[in-house]
Amino acid sequence: MRHSLIRKLIFTILALSAIAILAVSCAQPQGPRIEYGLVIHGGAGRIVEEDMLAEKEQAYRAFLTEALTVGYEILQHGGAALDAVEAVIVMMEDSPLFNAGKGAVFNSEGQIELDASIMEGSSLQAGAVTGVRTVKNPIRLARLVMEESKHVLLAGEGAQQFGAEHDIDFVSEDYFYTQRRWESLQQARQRAVDKHGTVGAVALDQAGNLAAGTSTGGMTNKRFGRIGDSPIIGAGTYADNQTCAVSCTGHGEYFIRAAIAYDISARMAHKGSTIAEAAHYVIDDRLTEMGGTGGVIALDKDGCIAMPFNTQGMYRGYVDQDGNITVAMFANE
Ligand code: ASP
Repeated sequence: MRHSLIRKLIFTILALSAIAILAVSCAQPQGPRIEYGLVIHGGAGRIVEEDMLAEKEQAYRAFLTEALTVGYEILQHGGAALDAVEAVIVMMEDSPLFNAGKGAVFNSEGQIELDASIMEGSSLQAGAVTGVRTVKNPIRLARLVMEESKHVLLAGEGAQQFGAEHDIDFVSEDYFYTQRRWESLQQARQRAVDKHGTVGAVALDQAGNLAAGTSTGGMTNKRFGRIGDSPIIGAGTYADNQTCAVSCTGHGEYFIRAAIAYDISARMAHKGSTIAEAAHYVIDDRLTEMGGTGGVIALDKDGCIAMPFNTQGMYRGYVDQDGNITVAMFANE
C-alpha cells in the first residue's frame, strides 16, 4: 500500500518535471532561449571559413561582440527593446564592415541608396525609409518616421526632407565611399547582382516588449530606384508582442514575395508553430523552393531564438540576460 503510494508520488513528480522542462525549453529544432536580450545579424551570403583571412574573421567577431555588449547594457538597465535595437543598428551602420550606413554597397549608377525599418511589438507601430542618399543613420530616421509622422514609409527626397526638419545627421556622399564596395560594384557589373551584408537586430526587454529593426544599402549593382525587403514591414522586419520579432537578410525580392517576416509571426499566431518551426520552414522550405537565398534572426515573446539561413554563412550573435555572448558566422557553428 505504502509502496504504491510512493510509486504514485514519484510518478507524479517525474511527470510534472517533464512538463516543466518542456515548458521552459524551446521546441524542436532546438534553439537557444533567453529571459531577455538581443539577437543581431550582419548579413548572410558566401561567408566561408576557408576564404576568410584570420584578421577579417577576428574583426567581425570582435565587432559583433561589442555591438551585443552595447545592446545588453541598455536592456540590463531596464531600457526598451526598441532603444537597444536602434543603438546596435546605429553602431553597425557606422562600421565599414557591413552593408548598411558607412559600408553600404553601390547601385548600378555608382550611388548609395539606403533603406531601413523599425517596429515595436507592443503597439505595432512601425517606421521606415527607402532610397535615402546622405542620411548617416537611416535606422534613426526610420524611428523618427514612426514616432514623429503619421506615416510608416517615406521615400527618397521626402524622407531626407523629413529628416532635415528633425535632428538627423547628414553626411556628404563621399562619406559612403569605401574601396571594397567600389571594387564589388566593378566586379558585379561584369556579372549579375550580388547580395549580402545587411544588418538587423531583434530584442526582448525586461518588460516583455519585442522590437525589430533592419538597415541596408541593398544589393550591389541594384537598379537605381530599386527597393528591397529591408524597409518593407512584414517582408524584412516585423515585431508583435503576441508572437515574435524578426529581421531578415538576403535576396530582397524573394523576401517581399514570400512576406517572410510576417509569415513567421502568422505561422505562430494562426498555426501554433513554434518560432523554430516557423522560421526554419520559411527559410529551409519556402524561400529555398522559390530559389531565394538569405536568412533571418527571430526571437519570440518567451525568449526562444531561431537563426536559420540557406546561404554558406550569416554573421550572427545573441546575448542573454546574464550578458553571455554567442557569436557565429559560418554554417557549422
Ligand atoms: N535584403 C537586402 C535587400 O534585398 C539585402 C541583404 O540583406 O543583403 O536589399
